[in-house]
Amino acid sequence: MKILLILPAGERVRVTPDRPDVPRRAMLRFSVLPLTVVAALTPPAHDVRIIDENVEPLDFAAECDVVGITFMTALAPRAYEIARRFRSRGKIVIAGGYHATLCPEETAAYFDSVVIGDAEDAWSRLLADLAARRLQKFYRPGGGCGSERRLAPPSRYQTPVPRRDLLARTARHYVTVNAVQTGRGCGHGCRYCSITAFHRHTYKRRSVEAVLAELRTLPRDFIFVDDNIIADRAYIRELCLAMIPLRKRWVSQCSLEVADDPALLRLLHAAGCRGLFIGIETVSAENLATMGKQFNDCTSYHERIRRIHAAGIGIVAGIILGLDHDAPEVFERTLRFLQQAQIGAVQVNILTPLPGTPLFDDMQRAGRMTDRDWSHYDFRHVVFRPAGMTATELQAGADWLYAQFYRLDRILWRALRGLLTAGWLPALLGLKLGLTYRYDNRREGISGWNPARSRRPVVAGSVLLLAACLGLPRPD
Ligand code: SF4
Repeated sequence: MKILLILPAGERVRVTPDRPDVPRRAMLRFSVLPLTVVAALTPPAHDVRIIDENVEPLDFAAECDVVGITFMTALAPRAYEIARRFRSRGKIVIAGGYHATLCPEETAAYFDSVVIGDAEDAWSRLLADLAARRLQKFYRPGGGCGSERRLAPPSRYQTPVPRRDLLARTARHYVTVNAVQTGRGCGHGCRYCSITAFHRHTYKRRSVEAVLAELRTLPRDFIFVDDNIIADRAYIRELCLAMIPLRKRWVSQCSLEVADDPALLRLLHAAGCRGLFIGIETVSAENLATMGKQFNDCTSYHERIRRIHAAGIGIVAGIILGLDHDAPEVFERTLRFLQQAQIGAVQVNILTPLPGTPLFDDMQRAGRMTDRDWSHYDFRHVVFRPAGMTATELQAGADWLYAQFYRLDRILWRALRGLLTAGWLPALLGLKLGLTYRYDNRREGISGWNPARSRRPVVAGSVLLLAACLGLPRPD
């Protein structure tokens, strides 16, 4: 069979025949990597191709028998459109990934079959059923083809080495195609987190030997695309010790708890860790409590961040805006905190209640969801009614914070500081990352305004003054 595996892209960043330029944003993407795993799971008798709409146009007339599409919630409308067009040509279309797992019944209306959860177990059964003409509507790990939402993942898993060779044509468009995963899930239960929802509060990991064998095939620099690389402390210690002789350099993501274990920080650095994406999320203790993330403990942010930096590891901070205890002052306060903590790069997200999460259920029950267009569930749009400000203020403030953090003078200053304190490599990486985020923001027209210093009262005051001078009645 000819199998086409597709990663859809949003309208603004999609490469099409009449818009062939690849936006820099694509460089920071890693979501195509699950498709390289699905390709590796496919028996060699089949012919597999991967198309990532972020970096090349999708040909709807492509020769194929089966189409597989993986997508997050924000890309669901595009995935449904792609499925519709291929199905109209009589192709079999299969869905997988986060949205398909968390909204299987909705997804099933657009696809011939839906893979729920991880693909490792389901994909080969699905292909065998397809060959025997008995394709089921749902496939889930551990056997069974029902649409039940309860999963029972093991604590250990095996996965083949991803087919990175299938990205050879487009590899230059990614910051790296050398992504490796040691484990899936996290073990924590933050109420907004779709990772926890997808993995049902479980964490599972590969064997150290399997990870090392894969690393030996890779160049020096790579990324661990784990959800929380320190989720199992004994495991990460064992892996890091074994990695030291390999002399690799890598980045990953984990919880802030990494700062509480100085020995682990030293070991991570010795094993080649040079940067971590860490969900700082908020500077409010009340918000952390509401979201079930008290382990972040915002009273100790500065000290913990200092310890991570002192270990020679840079930080990209994840920030969430629009939590229930956020007032219009949150944007200035957060910017001040990021600058004082000397954070090198930040990813600003507007709170987005993703389907399948406890947060989504809470918002639904409270009648606070205001927008059901899934394409807006991209962490850049307000899709609910905020508690501490208006939706307009939240949108404007989030944009303002992003634009302020990535102001050119601030990017250059951070690079200079990095050069003096951490060396040329972290400084160069920080500079490149900062300029890429800045490019993205400008391309999307992000600028915003600071709701705590809204110009609207000034405008309103001017109107009143003008009305008084002209002897007009006072407007409401
Ligand atoms: S720590 Fe991170 S990955 Fe883990 S549940 Fe919380 S947000 Fe999700």
